[in-house]
Amino acid sequence: MAVFKPENVEDFYEIGEVLGSGHFGQVRQVRERTSGNFWAGKFLKIRKVACSRLGLDRSSVEREVEILQAVQHPNIVALKDVFESRAEVVLILELVSGGELFDFIAEKENLLETEAIEFMKQILEGLRFIHCKNIAHFDLKPENIMLSDKVSKPPNIKLIDFGLAHMFHPGEEYKSTSGTPQYIAPEVISCQPLSTAADMWSIGVITYILLSGLSPFQGDTDEETLGNVIAMKYEFNEHYFSLTSPMAKDFIQKLLMKNPEDRMTAEECLLHPWIKPITPKQAAKRNRSSINMKNFKKFNARRKWKMSYNMVSVCNRLVNLRLLCKDTSSPDPLQRQCESDVEDTESKPASLLRRRLSSSS
Ligand code: ATP
Repeated sequence: MAVFKPENVEDFYEIGEVLGSGHFGQVRQVRERTSGNFWAGKFLKIRKVACSRLGLDRSSVEREVEILQAVQHPNIVALKDVFESRAEVVLILELVSGGELFDFIAEKENLLETEAIEFMKQILEGLRFIHCKNIAHFDLKPENIMLSDKVSKPPNIKLIDFGLAHMFHPGEEYKSTSGTPQYIAPEVISCQPLSTAADMWSIGVITYILLSGLSPFQGDTDEETLGNVIAMKYEFNEHYFSLTSPMAKDFIQKLLMKNPEDRMTAEECLLHPWIKPITPKQAAKRNRSSINMKNFKKFNARRKWKMSYNMVSVCNRLVNLRLLCKDTSSPDPLQRQCESDVEDTESKPASLLRRRLSSSS
């Protein structure tokens, strides 16, 4: 069991600028007072009463911590320490300062498939490692694939956000309907028992986007997107995939398989000829193919816009909830408890949304 230190985090770390926001709180740069080293502090609001719509169950944070402790690998963000106060838990994480991989790529003029493959290899190495430990990430998406810093050559991938991750115990059946529609596997939507293969589906989607700048299942609404996933409605439109090698398409096809058991594992992906060519002809084909940069840049710009839009929606929901609580002249006891939660989150609007609701063993 992880040790959650009861001391005040500010006695040990100076709290600095906001690096990012998630559904349950903020991530801030922090500076260790003794060494002067910089880290990332992930501040997670803990739900105080079962009825509350705000914050996380402590057990959910315990799971995230337990998993992070089990996955020490160069391509996975490292956990240093955990602090706990009455209302929140603070994870002290390795500072990942290179930004998101997709943003890094979008700044380039062009990118050969061989260069994209170097990134894919690191993602797959990280996944192979966690899957060997029977841990699935369950929230792989561009926002959770970052670069350790801006100077390393080659850039070093770090997978972050293990908030939805799960460690499978022998014989366990695990179901969850959490995730992000564009990237979730069909078995998540149809509420089937899950395995590490669900991550491999997300890798198929991410690779598809990386090469074409198109999201394979994206509909106008989340419902439409989920429907497209279930119907396996995707194609390699020549207009977007004219620069893509046949091996890359084969790689994606072997991941976007409806039956999880038919999908390649991370180990198998690392041996696929697109990643590890066997013949000189295969290697040469990858060098001649490139990613559809014009469309990729468009995809990334839209993605960033949606992220900011979502953050504004979260803030609006907080304002509405507060008005709702305050307008009620004689709130019932449960509502009162919820109201006190709202006041606690005044400075952290991002902790309103919840995504870790629906997992069950
Ligand atoms: P979500 O609601 O998306 O699951 P979350 O509350 O679990 O989010 P994270 O995704 O872990 O939080 O972090 C939110 C954001 O904070 C990230 O998208 C990233 O921009 C930033 N971030 C997270 N961890 C780090 C880190 N170790 N170093 C630097 N920035 C980080």
